[in-house]
Amino acid sequence: MAKKQFKAESKRLLDMMINSIYTHKEIFLREIISNSSDALDKLCYKSITDGKTGISREDLYIKVTIDKENRIIKVSDNGIGMTAEELEKNLGTIAKSGSLQFKTDMEKQEDIDIIGQFGVGFYSAFMVAEKVTVITKAFGEEQAYCWESDGADGYTITETGKDGHGTDIYMKIKEDGEDEKYSEYLEIFMLRSLIKKYSDYIRYPIKMDIEKSRKVEKPDSDKPEYEKYIEEETVNSMVPLWQRSKDEVSDEDLNGFYKDKFFDMKDPALTIRADVEGAFSYKALLFVPENTPMGYYTKEYRKGLELYSSGVMIMDNCEDLIPEHFRFVKGVVDSQDLSLNISREMLQHDRQLTAIRNNIEKKIKQELKKLLNNDPEKYEKFWQSFGLQLKYGIVADYGAHRELLKDLILYHSSNEKKLVTLQRYVELMPEQQKYIYYACGETVAKIDNLPQTEPLKDKGYSILYMTDEVDEFVINMLGEIDGKQFKSINDKDLGIETEEEKSDIEAKQEENQVMLDYLRDSLDGKVATVRLSNKLKSHPVCLTTDGEVSLEMEKYFATIPGDHPDVKAQRVLEINPTHKAFYMLQDTWQLDKDRCAKLGKLLYNQALLIADISIENPAEYTDLFWELI
Ligand code: ADP
Repeated sequence: MAKKQFKAESKRLLDMMINSIYTHKEIFLREIISNSSDALDKLCYKSITDGKTGISREDLYIKVTIDKENRIIKVSDNGIGMTAEELEKNLGTIAKSGSLQFKTDMEKQEDIDIIGQFGVGFYSAFMVAEKVTVITKAFGEEQAYCWESDGADGYTITETGKDGHGTDIYMKIKEDGEDEKYSEYLEIFMLRSLIKKYSDYIRYPIKMDIEKSRKVEKPDSDKPEYEKYIEEETVNSMVPLWQRSKDEVSDEDLNGFYKDKFFDMKDPALTIRADVEGAFSYKALLFVPENTPMGYYTKEYRKGLELYSSGVMIMDNCEDLIPEHFRFVKGVVDSQDLSLNISREMLQHDRQLTAIRNNIEKKIKQELKKLLNNDPEKYEKFWQSFGLQLKYGIVADYGAHRELLKDLILYHSSNEKKLVTLQRYVELMPEQQKYIYYACGETVAKIDNLPQTEPLKDKGYSILYMTDEVDEFVINMLGEIDGKQFKSINDKDLGIETEEEKSDIEAKQEENQVMLDYLRDSLDGKVATVRLSNKLKSHPVCLTTDGEVSLEMEKYFATIPGDHPDVKAQRVLEINPTHKAFYMLQDTWQLDKDRCAKLGKLLYNQALLIADISIENPAEYTDLFWELI
């Protein structure tokens, strides 16, 4: 039979496997066993849901045997097996699941310790084997098939015979080289310790034939004699990590489990264990990744937890268990109260599941809050990765989750010069400060330069700097914190002026009303109002808005593609009545109205520059400037 070639990407991965450094090689057994365990899960699930397979969970097992003489390790399972098509699809190509991510990461960082960290699957067998033979019979099929490959030159698939369903993997172990020794994998104690190390929690028995010796009674001799015999033994403890008590499981175990199962190279930022007994009982092992997963903020990302019922996996990605705002959380949930043959549709309306979901939500919130209080630095890291998700969570579903999430939100405080919670901001407010002040912009540095921040800074009031598009929607949704309302630094009335200051500015406004209206009109609809303001100290002008729509919102809506009405902010040009620019306007107004309008235009453009909005015609602006000085 003609050999088929591996797909290109598989070949590359294979090359890497074969040439991987020595210490990594031992993980091949974990990978092969984990595939067997999945195959048993699939059959188990099928027998539960179909009901008539005649298979019970107790019959399922994995067996590892060694043929030292022929240098073969055999891993067998009586799981679901594979049809010829599945063999072709599953073992002929590799760009799937974690492997793909693995490959792309690999291209970015050549020297990283990936193989040691990742689940790299079936192909890892080629790290230790010169030839791999897979004999498999799918459950319910008559025909068995043999897949065979030496790694380098592709593979063959032929028909063969096999008793019963399931899969046998034969790995012909390489000869020892000068630096690399493979023979140790043919030792029982070695394989046994590898199973203990990597696969102890597999929920099916992993059996091995262990050589033992026993004393033989010989009445006519004083010396005890021993004889050897073989006994089949289950090597793994079969208790999954989440079923074990806290002190039995090390952080290393948990981190390893997470990285292996969820294809991450880094330890999780946070590990959450839940063990709930009561009206409904469940155990959960949850993880918050350290970095935002690739494609996290896209439709491709799938949230969900693995769902088990008394150790039997019933769903590999149960979306209903995790609320949208915590969709970055990965993990497993095991509940003895869930019915095994439940369908996806039924799960959605399952009361137990809803109770577990609510409980998990509460637990995640608690643990994040704990992290925030106990290790703010670590929390900030989490915030960099998933803060945006929490902000979206506040805005989503008409604010239904805002109470849950509002104390997890951080913003940069101008006084503290670091991220603070909203509660912390309110705590630090001087007694006479009435509002929570905020300012939006592209970066903290740019916002800090806005002229409107000056009067608040002078008073010693802190301002929250906001740099995400969603921030103003968050503020609108929250409305207030501990009775204090939010106020934009662009607001007409910042609530810091005395009555006297207010009437002063009103009087000045009235005196200059004709000129200010003239300036507005000569700006040709670019601004809705030109007014004098108390907001400015050292700068001549600033751009603010009246009404609901802010400049940031206008920028945001302009970026949304598609047909929608223009959302425009009502722009206001504010002029500093104590600045020499204003005196110049006044003087010019008396002498030359046309020139005064040009000065107005100059000031408007400068207000745009200060607000970090590009000016329409920079060349014209430049010429105007030189004409006027
Ligand atoms: P992964 O396990 O990440 O999907 P692998 O390369 O390890 O990738 O395996 C590829 C596929 O081959 C598996 O998804 C599974 O469908 C199939 N497979 C591997 N080993 C077995 C087995 N022992 N029994 C049944 N199917 C298997």
